Amino acid sequence: MIDLRSDTVTKPSEEMRKIMFKAPVGDDVYGEDPSVNELEEYAANLFGKEAALFVTSGTQGNQAAILAHTKPGQEIIMDNEAHVFLYEGGATSAFAGVQSRTLTNDRGKMGLDDLEEAIRGEDIHFPETALIWLENSHNRSGGSVLPVSYMREVYELAQKYKVPVHIDGARIFNAAVASNASVKEIATYSNSIQFCLSKGLGAPVGSILVGEKSFIDLARKKRKMLGGGLRQAGILAAPGLHALKTGIHRLAEDHEQAKMLAKVVDEYTDLNVINEVETNIILADTSKSGRSANDWLAIFKDKGILAVAFSPTTIRFTTHIDVSKEDINTVIETIKTL
Ligand SMILES: *Cc1c(COP(=O)(O)O)cnc(C)c1O
Repeated sequence: MIDLRSDTVTKPSEEMRKIMFKAPVGDDVYGEDPSVNELEEYAANLFGKEAALFVTSGTQGNQAAILAHTKPGQEIIMDNEAHVFLYEGGATSAFAGVQSRTLTNDRGKMGLDDLEEAIRGEDIHFPETALIWLENSHNRSGGSVLPVSYMREVYELAQKYKVPVHIDGARIFNAAVASNASVKEIATYSNSIQFCLSKGLGAPVGSILVGEKSFIDLARKKRKMLGGGLRQAGILAAPGLHALKTGIHRLAEDHEQAKMLAKVVDEYTDLNVINEVETNIILADTSKSGRSANDWLAIFKDKGILAVAFSPTTIRFTTHIDVSKEDINTVIETIKTL
């Protein structure tokens, strides 16, 4: 099977497993795990932030960030297709007790005027705006990239109203590579960023939250409350560090392969690619074919190719480290025969 369901399906390489095996460990709740400490220091430097926190998942990183940035009864402004709104089980309201104010988006971008209007003023009736939330790359839009200029504009607006900005950067390196920007530059337009080690970078487990030291200290406590204080976590952090050091430069290949695949899907099938492929995600609409997303998934599965349904009439393909050039060629040749 060639698995294009998600970049989360990647498995640790032989080399990575050896690194896990040998990783020096200690009790990370005591701050004594050398592998975790090295990873956190490396990540903080990479993003030009004061500190970093290793968390078990992107969801835990996002939720620890929300708990650290907000108080119950406050409000977060986010786009109406944000992962945190759609796919985190309502954790924002369940755990932090804050409400989500959702704005329409165009490829992940909320309108700046909409955003400014949504920031709450002083009024006894209103919840306080505690946080502005961006997602880069934007999953529901098919991995679209927020331009650096847009992030700057949002950040400047947020500063004017003294509201912090969090970036859900589960795939921030895909975004950085695609926009020819460094994550350090992107990070200057945010107060905190969460990014996944376990997606395109190929690590088996984990995410990182970066930000100012006082923020990370608080997020560390929130992580403990969420059950994320792990002990000898170095066996998970060490492959994460390896992924961070070796996984970024090759993301451009994933993007190239996604573009190639999108072209063939568009040309040779009656599926319509509906996103401009900027990173590693392709969204294909099945409506014109008269078949549902699930029908198409079954057709592909029968040919040894896995994808996922993104809506009843949309399927998603995602390229990643475990899909080789040969695999993509196989997929392309298969699609040409459909
Ligand atoms: C995958 C993802 C997450 C959550 O990461 P998990 O490790 O699956 O919890 C958060 N935000 C975005 C945009 C994602 O794609």
